[in-house]
Parts: sequence; structure tokens; C-alpha cells
Amino acid sequence: MRAWSLVEPAPVESRPLRLVEKPVPSPAPSELLVHVRTCGVCRTDLHVAEGDLPPHKEHATPGHEVVGDVAALGAEVSGFEVGERVGVAWLRSTDGTCRYCRRRAENLCPASRYTGWDADGGYAEYTTVPADFAYRLPAAVEDAALSPLLCAGIIGYRALLRTDLPEGGRLGLYGYGGSAHLCAQLARAQGARVHVLTRGEAAQALARELGAVSVGGAHDAPAEPLDGAILFAPVGDLVPTALRALDRGGVLAVAGIHLSDTPPLDYEHELFYEKELRSVTSNTRANGREFLRLAERYDVRSTVHPYPMSRAPEALADLKAGRFDGAAVLVNDLSG
Ligand SMILES: [Zn+2]
Ligand SMILES: [Zn+2]
Repeated sequence: MRAWSLVEPAPVESRPLRLVEKPVPSPAPSELLVHVRTCGVCRTDLHVAEGDLPPHKEHATPGHEVVGDVAALGAEVSGFEVGERVGVAWLRSTDGTCRYCRRRAENLCPASRYTGWDADGGYAEYTTVPADFAYRLPAAVEDAALSPLLCAGIIGYRALLRTDLPEGGRLGLYGYGGSAHLCAQLARAQGARVHVLTRGEAAQALARELGAVSVGGAHDAPAEPLDGAILFAPVGDLVPTALRALDRGGVLAVAGIHLSDTPPLDYEHELFYEKELRSVTSNTRANGREFLRLAERYDVRSTVHPYPMSRAPEALADLKAGRFDGAAVLVNDLSG
């Protein structure tokens, strides 16, 4: 099969990914072999390709927002059928036995492994997934629109949970890319007042279109104090800005897996009155299943920018440069 392979982490402009021939992977006894239909392009792929996240596997194939068809079943798999459409996401496996897994915080499992980082992902014709970590998908939604839900959507949902937003609360979103625009739709559907603080006119226009109460620049003060905020932009400088925008008792959740350094915090203006700063680390499978249910119920839609999979590096470069709003999705054109 043909697959993109990370030769050596480097800035995406210098093409760290190469299109290579690899054998079609054979699924382990507990795994599914999946023929890829679409794979979303996540900012984490950019961090892997550029080395912000150190390589976990030589020549890894990135991609962890896979929608595909089950092509074969490992010997021990039951409950799936060949031909069934499934989703493959970032969290690939956990040990199920550690103190975190036992208290339903498998996102913190020290033995956790990730698709497209520890194991080959979906920038390829085929990929594999442990059956226990594959998602069943709502039938009514098309492939390309589902892909971004599988990481951007799920992570945005966990970040929203981490803000402990009160009923009808005021939510600020810093940055407005693939994850934020899904999170905004769900938060609004559940009654939140959403404020978007982001640079870029296209992103601001999309935020208005999707019903934000107010839209401003990344360092602007929102139109009202916030009960919760989510920092989607990987920019540590925005941490104090967002903390200052919080009302008493407000929570700022940092959604990214990577963040540039934060400046020193001013305790009185940025943390006192029980403001909280929280990180978001991956997600549990329960978060994923719950989000996919809610996304179907509230018709949460991704704004999709499709690219042929053969042009994956271009999609990554465009993501880095902020050349589109919404989410880039690779459509498999590698299979003949
Ligand atoms: Zn564990
Ligand atoms: Zn991701």
C-alpha cells in the first residue's frame, strides 16, 4: 500500500513526510484492519511532523481522525463485521489496570499509546486499530464531515467539560480552528453564550456565522466576563489574557497538547478569586462516545476543506499558515 511516512521531523515546508510503499499491516488478534476513506488533519500531526512532539516510532505514518471500512478482523475480535464503517482516533490503547484507568481517567494512563505517533495512523491506504478503541459512527453523516469529530471534536468536548461551565454560562474560545468551531456549536446547543477571541478574518467570520455572541481579536477583552474559557491556540502568551477575562471562579482550560511558554502570572489579577488554570490531556473513550452521540443529536457540523491524500504535505502547510478555517480532511486517493 501507499502511505505517508515521517522521514525526519522538520518544518513542514521542507517536506518531512514522504509517500512510500509499505506492506498492508496485518491486524493483531485484538485489532481491526481498516481501509481508510478519509483522515482529518489535526494540529497534533503538525507537532509530530515538525518534532514538537518527539518521535515515538521510526518512520511513523501520522493521522488519527480516520473514517474507514473494516477490511479484516483479528482472530480474537467479535462485535464488528467486515465492511462496517468505523472511526479511529488518537487514543489507541491503555493498560486498563493502572490507578488512573481504574478510576475512569484512562486519558492519564502512563502506558497509553497514540495513533499516528506510537503506531501508524491514517495518512495511508490502510491502518489498524485495537477493536476496543474503534468508534461506531452515526450513519447519517458523510465520511469527510465525521473525520474532524474524531479528534478535534472529542478534544473540544473534553475541554468544554474541563471548564465546568455552569448552565447558560459565558464561554470564551481563544483560537477558532477545527476544534473550536465544533466546540462552539455544541456549547451553543447546550445553552452557553459563546465569545470568540481569535486573529484572522476568515475565522472571525465563521465564528459570527455560527452564532457567537461576540467576536474579537485574540488579545481583546470579551464583551462580558467569562465563566469558562478554552485556549485552543498553542500560544502561552494568551494564558494571562484569558485568565484576566475570567469572572470570579472561572476556569481556563488549555486544550492543546503543545503550548509555547506562558509568561509569569500576576496572582492578584489572573488567579485570585479562585480562578483556575487547567490542562486537557487526551480523552477517555467515554468522552468520545458521548461526544459522537451529542454531535448527532445537535447536528454538530464540521466545515471541511478536502484535500486528496496524495497532497497531505500541502494540507499541513496550509494548516500551519492558517490558510483555511474549519478542518482539513484528506480523502484517500492513494488506493488506485
Ligand atoms: Zn492505565
Ligand atoms: Zn488530533
